[in-house]
Amino acid sequence: MLCEQCNQNTSTVYITSLASGQRTKRQLCQTCAQPVLDGIAPNEKTGATFLGVPAAQKAKLLPEQISIPDPVIVRDLAATLTLAPFQVVGTLMRMNVPVSSLDAVSFETASRLCASYGVFAAQA
Ligand SMILES: [Zn+2]
Repeated sequence: MLCEQCNQNTSTVYITSLASGQRTKRQLCQTCAQPVLDGIAPNEKTGATFLGVPAAQKAKLLPEQISIPDPVIVRDLAATLTLAPFQVVGTLMRMNVPVSSLDAVSFETASRLCASYGVFAAQA
């Protein structure tokens, strides 16, 4: 069973969370589960979609605003976001956008992805 978060690693951790009155169960790998286990995933409390970007990490690593072309290659988008390509691919998967890191996505899709990370995307 692959991790529901990144779709890359084998899931080794089962997490049950109570969000918006709904109990949800997830199977995550150690890497993706760590922020949840550390209790620094604010989205867990609000019930918003969990995207595996801990608040601390976001504050340190993710830019507030990026400028990207239309369309943009997923790998380049990830680099601009200072994320690993598989993280962006995983997030796009959860947005029902099946891509590889070498595929291009439209600016519209890319900006929705960025919004999910709390990053504002401007078209270059
Ligand atoms: Zn994972």
